[in-house]
Amino acid sequence: MANNEDKFKKIIAHAKEYGFVFQSSEIYDGLSAVYDYGQHGVELKNNIKNHWWKSMVQYHENIVGLDAAIFMHPTVWKASGHVDAFSDPMIDNKDSKKRYRADVLVENYMAKIEQKIQKEIIKAGKRFGESFDKEQYLATNSRVMDYQKKRDDVAKRLYSAMDNEDFPAIKTLIEDLGIADPVSGSKNWTDVRQFNLMFATQMGSLSEDANEVYLRPETAQGIFTNYLNVQKSGRMKIPFGIAQVGKAFRNEIVARQFLFRMKEFEQMEMQYFVRPGEELKWYEYWKEERMKWHLSLGIPAEKYRFHDHEKLAHYANAAADIEFEFPIGFKEIEGIHSRTDFDLAAHQEYSGRKIQYFDPELNQNYIPYVVETSIGLDRTFLAVLSNAFHEETLDDGSQRVLLKLPPFLAPVKAAILPLVKKDGLPEKAREVIDSLKYDYMCFYEEKDAIGRRYRRQDAIGTPYCITVDHQTLKDNTVTIRERDSMEQERIPVDAISEIIKKRLTVN
Ligand code: ATP
Repeated sequence: MANNEDKFKKIIAHAKEYGFVFQSSEIYDGLSAVYDYGQHGVELKNNIKNHWWKSMVQYHENIVGLDAAIFMHPTVWKASGHVDAFSDPMIDNKDSKKRYRADVLVENYMAKIEQKIQKEIIKAGKRFGESFDKEQYLATNSRVMDYQKKRDDVAKRLYSAMDNEDFPAIKTLIEDLGIADPVSGSKNWTDVRQFNLMFATQMGSLSEDANEVYLRPETAQGIFTNYLNVQKSGRMKIPFGIAQVGKAFRNEIVARQFLFRMKEFEQMEMQYFVRPGEELKWYEYWKEERMKWHLSLGIPAEKYRFHDHEKLAHYANAAADIEFEFPIGFKEIEGIHSRTDFDLAAHQEYSGRKIQYFDPELNQNYIPYVVETSIGLDRTFLAVLSNAFHEETLDDGSQRVLLKLPPFLAPVKAAILPLVKKDGLPEKAREVIDSLKYDYMCFYEEKDAIGRRYRRQDAIGTPYCITVDHQTLKDNTVTIRERDSMEQERIPVDAISEIIKKRLTVN
């Protein structure tokens, strides 16, 4: 665990040092849980976004895009249930004045028990060697059984209190477990209170009683409110989907989770409108499709798992998360939800407009059912970054840090480097870059020894370094160095483009 925390810190430091991610307003000591993407971060993020967009919109005839506004009529959030129910149970520590999610404090306590169990398993594995039977060990070792029982008891109490919105019971649980403020160590807690996650602001043009608008907490409602517009103007036939990428805002109370939990983040959502009764078939279909997409990012399958929801939200009849093994553990990266007709029916009721589909095959009108895929762009960025981050010791004993990004996601595809800053090499290098830059994101650099320039490109994940040297002036060849193998080859300038292109294919 210590190692993973260490790795997480290194990734965050690396992201800052190499222009991927900065804390927002850093010169004013930062704004908590808000981040800015730097020069290389924005490229990586755009590449992930474009890959998602293509996979959804370009590769599916029956999925179209949308870019809805962040502000929406306030009634949207009444209809969707966010005004009444989009809240977290919060607790404040009276001494440190820090605010926490009460359920997360308890979940962290449970995670610590889990870590103890895992430690015992590793120890026993070493002790018993080949003959170790994990299942049998878990079922018979008294210390581990005690841990498991404790964890299950805590989980039972927490989830029953959460289900019943019994906030005093959550506070009692925190007190019974002796949970202390992770910052101050104090156990001096306030009561648990509900805290709505939506940011509100004023919009003058609306009537007196309805001038409070929200920054959208999810992009999905922009899709639902435009269902009729898109269906009619695009003459869409069910099943069809509407995809959207955009900002969402949640007033999350969190500390130190970097891009995993932000107050302003980006979602990539697709709502698939289907015939009632066929939603579970499509739910299974999209679960598989979305997992395939994750694997196309060049991340190994063992880093992912499904987590099927046992307890369903009031609007869903099936739901699963795709979880990724972040350095902070397996956590949700995408949700796939069968949302029934909950949203469209609610908007029909609140707006008084008929939101229906005439199905010519069935000769029938109905409110379509919806299967949603909802993925966080920032969490995907973090997944790609943490999977790519590698520290290597080379044969000569030196260290290098590299991002093994799949080339199609890399911020820079080729760095063009004149060996020295004289003898006409910079001019020749500019010529090379001019022949490539309309097709690929390129980078030019002439300062420092070539080895150091290579290292800097490794650190941002550039798949190819092209070096222009004195021989280039004679025979129009360059050396091309591949990032992962560090192998170098001499090739004609005309061949560079083809080599890069070949590596840019998606898995
Ligand atoms: P969590 O349980 O982690 O709070 P959620 O279930 O509330 O997530 P959804 O409402 O299903 O999340 O949102 C869909 C996706 O949006 C999530 O899978 C996640 O990738 C992303 N997301 C949600 N909240 C945040 C956040 N605060 N920061 C970054 N990404 C987020």
